[in-house]
Amino acid sequence: MHLISFTEGNLTRIGRLEGTRIIDLSKANPKLPTSLVDLLNGGEDALQAAASSRSAPHFDLADVKLESPVPQPGKILAVGLNYRAHAVESGMPIPEHPVIFTKQNTSITGPYDPVHKPAETKMLDYEGELAFVIGKKCRRVPADKAPEVIAGYTINNDVSVRDWQLRGTPPQFTMGKSWDTHCPLGPALVVDEGLDPHRLQLRTLVNGEVRQDTNTNDLIFNCYEILAYLSTAFTLLPGDVVVTGTPAGVGMAMKPPSALSPGDKVRVELDQLGYIENEIIDEPADTTLF
Ligand code: ZN
Repeated sequence: MHLISFTEGNLTRIGRLEGTRIIDLSKANPKLPTSLVDLLNGGEDALQAAASSRSAPHFDLADVKLESPVPQPGKILAVGLNYRAHAVESGMPIPEHPVIFTKQNTSITGPYDPVHKPAETKMLDYEGELAFVIGKKCRRVPADKAPEVIAGYTINNDVSVRDWQLRGTPPQFTMGKSWDTHCPLGPALVVDEGLDPHRLQLRTLVNGEVRQDTNTNDLIFNCYEILAYLSTAFTLLPGDVVVTGTPAGVGMAMKPPSALSPGDKVRVELDQLGYIENEIIDEPADTTLF
């Protein structure tokens, strides 16, 4: 099942994608909620109802605006240096433990929305990544039970402001990784399709040029190990998002380093999950709020 969040007529709600056609779930079944987090909080019964709701399609993809499947997650947790070749290109040792940082939930944007280049950076970069979404409140989940609490999988670009990320000692992951619009997510949350998250080819293209092309079987810490590690320390809640790290091929590691500029289009594709594509634009002046 491909679950989406979409906006039509100024109302954001959830749908089930059938090819390019959308079943508006709360229209098909008025007992279903309009937000993905509420659906996940409804447990297996709600997911079953979403999967089995029969209705003629309400919209075509072209009629709506696709949002991040989780428009405002409680947490966004991220893993750094989680592919060997990326650790090497970054000049860092292979980690013995997962390297964890957070992205603020205000950095979320839709799968096809523009990504802002702030005036304060000269080194805006992309990181194509596999993401997963928590489906059940959980703590201290052993790795072999992780599939029971993961709702599904989706695609992320962990957009990075390198000159802010890497200045100072130690580096400032929070300030470099959390600018507004720097967490495009989507296009759908893919639930229960028997997909193996650790056998998916991940490709990132900038203006059609392939920059990253790696299989998720090369992850140092896989999704289940990441979940076990994170949930040792804190409770995870339905809708929390985990982005699992990027493979080799980021712009910063190119010779010479290559920064993203306004007009560039960054596309991240993962087998069975679709793609997200975001154009870089100068950060609009109306983003200043005070
Ligand atoms: Zn990343």
